[in-house]
Amino acid sequence: MKRNRRDFLKTSGLAIGAASLSPSNLFAHQNMNHMKSSPLKFRFKPYTLQLKNVFTIATSSRTTTPVVLTEIEYDGVVGYGEGSMPPYLGESHETATAFLSKVDLSRFDNPFNMEAILDYVDEIAPGNKAAKAAVDIALHDLVGRIMGQPWFRIWGYPKDTTPNTSFTIGIDEPDVVRQKTREASEFKILKVKLGRENDKEMIETIRSVTDVPLCVDVNQGWKDKSKALEEIEWLKERGIVFVEQPMPKEQIDDMAWLTENSPLPTIADEALQGVDDVVKARGVYSGINIKLMKSKGMRQAHTMLEMARAFGMRVMVGCMTETSCAISAASHLAPMCDWADLDGALLISNDVFEGMRVIDGKVVVPERPGIGVKKIG
Ligand SMILES: [Mg+2]
Repeated sequence: MKRNRRDFLKTSGLAIGAASLSPSNLFAHQNMNHMKSSPLKFRFKPYTLQLKNVFTIATSSRTTTPVVLTEIEYDGVVGYGEGSMPPYLGESHETATAFLSKVDLSRFDNPFNMEAILDYVDEIAPGNKAAKAAVDIALHDLVGRIMGQPWFRIWGYPKDTTPNTSFTIGIDEPDVVRQKTREASEFKILKVKLGRENDKEMIETIRSVTDVPLCVDVNQGWKDKSKALEEIEWLKERGIVFVEQPMPKEQIDDMAWLTENSPLPTIADEALQGVDDVVKARGVYSGINIKLMKSKGMRQAHTMLEMARAFGMRVMVGCMTETSCAISAASHLAPMCDWADLDGALLISNDVFEGMRVIDGKVVVPERPGIGVKKIG
């Protein structure tokens, strides 16, 4: 028994996760010894998400989001993954296809060698974060399925400490904003995009309909720290719970000053990409927004969450427009997060998975093994 556990720790590359595994999980792993050694099979396919509503940002509007869906198969078990590529981040069906065509997982015959496999994928080419996330998520799903355990449990997290998910109210005419706010009555926290001329009008319009907590995302829109502080003080009086990326990510000293003086927590989004940025965000922001498409998947996202927690920082888990595949993968972090912004699959009309659910506004992590998804399309 003991020897098997040691061997597992040695060969799996999963030492941190393995530390929290219960004996029953280890028993599930021992069954691996009876599995045949065979190469991993990797498949991918571009897919286009149809948005329920037109999505408008400062420079453009769109009704679709390109994603790539992936599968990794081992000994008859299939893990599913996804990469989402909103156009403003620079990846596309073409770049993902070019990158993923180079991924040869047949050189690996043990899916538990996660570090080696993901390091290999990472080194094929720089960038391509969403495409890399698509491989990372499929591998996590596969390994969790083989172990018979969902990832929140492999990571040693409880199930029921998940936060409510926010739901984003887009910038629009007051009548439309009021209507959208009423339609979002299921949600216990709403997210509002600010950083334009009409910030106060947006907040007052929403407040004319509901008094649920609001969080705001400024997307680097405020350039002057004193004005930013005035805005935050105004927001504090109106039930706002945190301010995401208030200033340009380059204005580090201004941002540190703002965080020190702000009555509301400040959260890094654009300023936070990889693990190194968690260290840089310490003392500059109150917390971080982790997204799998920025962190190249679950492996780094988990490390970032653990680091931020160790630093005493607040953590939220966010998303792009994604199917329930990538959303469910992200939801396994949610039990250890202060806030969640996992509304991405609710915004599309052609989801091909079911997994994470929102019940009474709260994130409900799926308990099925792996990332917990079931293919429905
Ligand atoms: Mg943001």
